[in-house]
Amino acid sequence: MNTSSWRRLNVAVIGGGIGGMSVAIALRRAGHEVTIYEKSDFAGEVGASVSCAANGTRWLHEWGVDVAKGDPVVLKKLINRDWKTGEPVSVYDLDDYEKRWGYVYNMFHRQYMHAMLKDSALLDEGEGIPAKLLVNHKCRDIDMRTNTITFENGVTAQHDLIIGADGIGSAVRGILGIRPEKRPSDSSCLHTNVDADEAARLGLTNYSQDSALEYWGGQEGKWDKIVLSPCNGGKLLSYYCFFPREQGDFSTQAWGAEGRPVEDLLKPYPQLDRQVFKHLEIGKEIQPWRLWVHDPYPYIQKGKVCLLGDAGHPMMPHQSQGACMAIEDAAALGILFNKKYFNGDVVESLAVYETVRLPRVTRVQAAAAKAAYNINERIGFSVNKDTPTYKVEDPKKVLTIEEMNAYDMYRDVEEKLATVRGRKYEDKFICGLPIGMELPSGIIIGASA
Ligand SMILES: Cc1cc2nc3c(=O)[nH]c(=O)nc-3n(C[C@H](O)[C@H](O)[C@H](O)COP(=O)(O)OP(=O)(O)OC[C@H]3O[C@@H](n4cnc5c(N)ncnc54)[C@H](O)[C@@H]3O)c2cc1C
Repeated sequence: MNTSSWRRLNVAVIGGGIGGMSVAIALRRAGHEVTIYEKSDFAGEVGASVSCAANGTRWLHEWGVDVAKGDPVVLKKLINRDWKTGEPVSVYDLDDYEKRWGYVYNMFHRQYMHAMLKDSALLDEGEGIPAKLLVNHKCRDIDMRTNTITFENGVTAQHDLIIGADGIGSAVRGILGIRPEKRPSDSSCLHTNVDADEAARLGLTNYSQDSALEYWGGQEGKWDKIVLSPCNGGKLLSYYCFFPREQGDFSTQAWGAEGRPVEDLLKPYPQLDRQVFKHLEIGKEIQPWRLWVHDPYPYIQKGKVCLLGDAGHPMMPHQSQGACMAIEDAAALGILFNKKYFNGDVVESLAVYETVRLPRVTRVQAAAAKAAYNINERIGFSVNKDTPTYKVEDPKKVLTIEEMNAYDMYRDVEEKLATVRGRKYEDKFICGLPIGMELPSGIIIGASA
């Protein structure tokens, strides 16, 4: 499927977060010229871990990203602990993870991950034209006829392709006419950071030694759950603490808003294992993470504009796949617009992008919403099916590690492109005769009687 009509595009990426930086790298590698427009200046970002399983990590390697810059913890285990005693209920060993899936399961610190991606997108080294970043450019509107973006600062810019990577509160989504069906989750989440050295100095359990994603609670029907992920080479312990919304409603408070007092964090957990409870007592930067359940959107592109990452498919955090899905979106665009597949027709490529991405992200989105109140609904491998508490709504619907990590995006793109291009051929010709052609008898091919 080689195309000689490839042309270099002048691409706008609106939003310079994890997804925006990823797509800038992918399209730079595919030979395009990319400008990233970011509303903020990136000051005041609050730290937290972001997991990047093999299905995300593989693209970082394919793009030649210097993963060491992200100072990750490579996960070795997934440990589910008893809510009260902290004893392991199940331990899933990830020793053969890289061997099976080709790539490791990284746990990054958000800011380090972002800086790692930003360098890869903007610096001279590496293949392709370095992307440009313009901060303090908040998208206000897009003229869909002329592909012209207007920013709050009065600047306007015209591009061949516009990618809305502007996160969960996306402006581009509204411009495309998508009105989200959403509701606040029944659970709330507070996040806190614990300095692993400080915890060790105080004689508390040294969880950073496990290199593990650890969970307390989360059994069926219970909203209480603590998720601990180490990042920054194990120096920082990032805690996500879930509890029923009636015990604290932060659904309207933005991430990065004023921090909460430690009492808010401890209050919902009178019976929690004291080892982890003591960690929470020394937690810093306690931040609410507002959780909204979004139903899947009917479409994620229109004309020469598309959505990527949280803008196109915000999801609950319970499958740890939000960042990976944004990276996969970026990878799909990188493939569709590369020299092998792109034939100069932006509209067609975005239509295929939607058919490649929407089914997959919708499935992960649904599975993430289910895993909110039943840890057994988490991607197959992370729970022990032999424990007495194992119960799921429909075993066939549980996301499997195979479908996440063995997914062949190149093949998917190729098949969907072939379908679209095949159909186009049929659309233009009937029995080998072009639609609209007038036969000597006066019959017009394709015209209904
Ligand atoms: C606390 C927290 C922890 C998380 N943990 C995990 C995890 O462990 N694993 C995981 O997979 N996912 C995790 N996620 C989710 C993950 O971070 C997101 O799914 C991922 O960042 C999506 O990337 P994005 O680029 O779509 O959005 P974002 O990273 O949110 O980036 C959006 C960007 O767009 C900018 N922007 C917004 N509006 C405009 C505008 N109008 N004009 C210009 N720019 C604009 C924003 O300033 C921002 O920089 C977490 C999220 C949070 C908040």
